[in-house]
Amino acid sequence: MAEAGFVIIGAGECGARAAFSLREQGFSGAVTLIGAEPHLPYERPPLSKGAMLDEAPALKSIATAERVSEAGIELVSPAWARTIDRVNKTVLLEDGASVPYDKLLLATGASPRQLPLAEKSRRCLSLRTYDDALQIRSRLKPGARLAVVGGGFIGLELAASARRLGAAVTVIEAQPRILMRGVPAEIAAAIHARHEAEDVRILCGVGLASIEDTPSSVLIRLADGSQIEADWAVIGIGSVPNTALAESAGLAIGNGITADEHLHTSDPDIFAAGDCCSFPLTLYGSRKVRLESWRNAQEQGALAATNMLGRKERHEFVPWFWSDQYELGLQVAGLADEGAETVRRDSGENAFILFHLAEDGRLVAASGIGPGNAVARDIRLAEMLIAKRAHPPRERLAAPDVKLKALLAA
Ligand code: FAD
Ligand code: NAP
Repeated sequence: MAEAGFVIIGAGECGARAAFSLREQGFSGAVTLIGAEPHLPYERPPLSKGAMLDEAPALKSIATAERVSEAGIELVSPAWARTIDRVNKTVLLEDGASVPYDKLLLATGASPRQLPLAEKSRRCLSLRTYDDALQIRSRLKPGARLAVVGGGFIGLELAASARRLGAAVTVIEAQPRILMRGVPAEIAAAIHARHEAEDVRILCGVGLASIEDTPSSVLIRLADGSQIEADWAVIGIGSVPNTALAESAGLAIGNGITADEHLHTSDPDIFAAGDCCSFPLTLYGSRKVRLESWRNAQEQGALAATNMLGRKERHEFVPWFWSDQYELGLQVAGLADEGAETVRRDSGENAFILFHLAEDGRLVAASGIGPGNAVARDIRLAEMLIAKRAHPPRERLAAPDVKLKALLAA
């Protein structure tokens, strides 16, 4: 019987990387990449940042159509994978076509969490896709009033871009501070101050009572009785993993599609990777996590490809992500909430790094902020120390004249 080849559902960062990685690792069978969006695979990070500043936001594709074709990757898009028949090992598409597979990768990503209060509003938008970005950009005129619900990455990056475009911005965050998840308070405070210096109004610790459209605006009533009137609102209250397809196929689910450290799901011929996948992070005692970051999507895509080819490599990466707001660059390596103690290093003008140490002194994370790439090199070195499970002396971490490279060699 002819080999069915490898099929990847989801032509985002992770799916595209997996497809190319299969070729880079010498796989010569059929590779089919099924994607719901009517575009070549593209980068999402610019959508809230640089692309949002352009009058006509450009789509930054991950690979040209020629490269996809030269690599012998069959891109089926726009196409929606509706069901997986695990017995006959086929994926059924919305248009009735069926695609057979030997090995299948689910890289279905995540979708914006919906806010029930905003369900009826036509003035509440969300940002995940290029098409969403076009919708939002067309509304960001100088003087426009933008309300952002959620003081997470989407909300704050968009707030920075909207200010650059001359819009008035109010951010509403339910938690007592912005960036509650994954970003330490000291760094969140620096970002908060930077937004306030740009006249962004940030309201924390306040719930929503109602959201209602008027003929020309949207009225957001808060639980404390106050109200905000805006022309448009963007809801950025987190994302939920796209698990419906896996769930209907009977695969194990738990805050994402459940995978092991090799990215195998509960079916040995099906893998999961990227934003949709929850897996044990070896470096942190196999703590189950779902990472929603660009580099993770790439690393897991490549790892899934390796293991689809029959190897059994484990996920050993250090989580890492970045965010750019105004001139500030934020980077976090490792899991900051694993730390019991923090050591601060001031590393130049307006730049600092926090080292997060576990109770036994092991470096478990490093988070830094500064203009441009000010903290990038040291975060990279910290990442290597984290991967080594190093226990660097506190006083040396704190001293800016001690090179992290020296600690790595120690
Ligand atoms: P996705 O990129 O979500 O791709 C999944 C794809 O699968 C989608 O195209 C979806 O339509 C498709 N799909 C789902 N179900 C089906 C189906 N049944 N059939 C067919 N296709 C399907 N991370 C950072 O680290 N730094 C940043 O600065 C940063 N900025 C970001 C800015 C924005 C605006 C957004 C939205 C995200 C940002 N991220 C950032 C996060 C990063 O982009 C994601 O972690 C990454 O895109 C995840 O890749 P993925 O392939 O797992 O999922
Ligand atoms: P996020 O970073 O998880 O932030 C969402 C924020 O909204 C959280 O602080 C959340 O608080 C808060 N929130 C939840 N419900 C709320 C409510 N009812 N009212 C007000 N605030 C509420 O998610 P996001 O900013 O929406 O981003 C979506 C996805 O894009 C994520 O996967 C994110 O990683 C990705 N992204 C990443 C970057 C980056 O890494 N630089 C940039 C843009 C987007 P709780 O913690 O209590 O839920």
